[in-house]
Amino acid sequence: MNVWTPAFVGLGSNLADPSRQVEQAIGELGQLPGCRLVSHSRLYISAPMGPADQPHFINAVAGLLTRLEPDRLLDALEAIEAAHGRTRGGPHWGPRTLDLDIIAMGQLELATPRLTLPHPGAHERNFVLVPLAEIAPACWLPGHGRVADLAEAIGDSGLGRLAKGRV
Ligand code: ATP
Ligand code: CA
Ligand code: CA
Repeated sequence: MNVWTPAFVGLGSNLADPSRQVEQAIGELGQLPGCRLVSHSRLYISAPMGPADQPHFINAVAGLLTRLEPDRLLDALEAIEAAHGRTRGGPHWGPRTLDLDIIAMGQLELATPRLTLPHPGAHERNFVLVPLAEIAPACWLPGHGRVADLAEAIGDSGLGRLAKGRV
């Protein structure tokens, strides 16, 4: 794409020093060709969504400008996950060193076998909406509404913000 599009990336980790995984990955997003890191939320801690017998997750959201096509951005995110030792094949929503999801790209609505935009779970997850509202409260999540309104409606149950200074 020749135009720069805003893209929001949700980060999550609950293995191998999760805060460090997320902080490093935020930096790596800023190094991707065709991407500029514009902003990022602070770090949050959340109760696991899948199997309960796993560590809490550290979450954040990063705001990019990108001229990559959506598929190419997902390729780049998967490469960062792999470099962080992300393995596939564990239980659904099981523990992982790093998970990078594309929350949204501009006002794009897309549903392909590999990529759905906005991310199908984003609007019902407070560990996505609350950090997203920190950096882009007025952003419109296509099909769902204004980010600040969605975050306020969902609340922050089970979610904590880490002390300042980690990022
Ligand atoms: P969830 O997608 O519910 O957060 P997850 O992140 O644990 O679960 P993964 O195993 O990381 O799931 O990814 C499953 C598939 O989701 C990937 O193979 C990818 O192709 C697909 N996918 C669809 N839409 C997106 C998106 N917006 N961002 C990232 N991956 C997506
Ligand atoms: Ca995910
Ligand atoms: Ca994922």
